[in-house]
Amino acid sequence: MTELLHMKDNYIREFDAKVVAVGDCYVALDHTAFYPEGGGQSGDRGMISDGTTTLTIVNTKKDSGEVQHLVEAPIAISNGADVHGSLDWNWRYESMRFHTAQHVLSRYLQLNYQVITVGNMIKPDKSRADYSPLESFDDEMKRKVEAGVNEILAKNLDVSIKFMQRRDAIDYLNEKGYQTRYLEMVPKSVKEFRVIAIGNYDVASCAGTHVKNTREVGAIKIGKTKNVGAGKRRIYFSLVN
Ligand SMILES: [Zn+2]
Repeated sequence: MTELLHMKDNYIREFDAKVVAVGDCYVALDHTAFYPEGGGQSGDRGMISDGTTTLTIVNTKKDSGEVQHLVEAPIAISNGADVHGSLDWNWRYESMRFHTAQHVLSRYLQLNYQVITVGNMIKPDKSRADYSPLESFDDEMKRKVEAGVNEILAKNLDVSIKFMQRRDAIDYLNEKGYQTRYLEMVPKSVKEFRVIAIGNYDVASCAGTHVKNTREVGAIKIGKTKNVGAGKRRIYFSLVN
């Protein structure tokens, strides 16, 4: 199991670690600040160096608890080496801003249009989320949602991370109006949930990376939307600036 530094602190961009496994196209470390692709958020990129050789990490994935830092060139770092990792911070910080924006957008649509989020993809400049039931989304609604979400973001709400025991988290999230039926399906072996709260506006169970305050997001712009079947609509959004 790789210890995930981002779970407690989303702003770690450099760290020291030890190599614990070397595969054909990846290295695994005892702990890492690289975010492994998951929960809709894309994996981190960056560099890992042992002082002599620097590996360019093109993506990060998780394979049963082990975080794999993927490389495209042969790996000239050996198992057991002490290394220094540094994230491609532009990529990661954009992912954080997009992810917090998506939570606010999802909550806004839930509260105002009674739709739930059924999928998402957080990737700088390609972010989107799927909502259901949402058959139509005309220009007037687009403008309204954009203005409503941006008004919430402009309130400079603090984003906090809490760790809660499984039952307490489910009860708490339920009470706050969060859709908890997927959480009930999480294997019982998961005893603790990570809960992200955005001021008093939103709560969600999420392992992704977020900014500390909505002022860091700025404002969103809603792009195209399309019907993806079964009453679901995909909404693309970007960040202004
Ligand atoms: Zn999330």
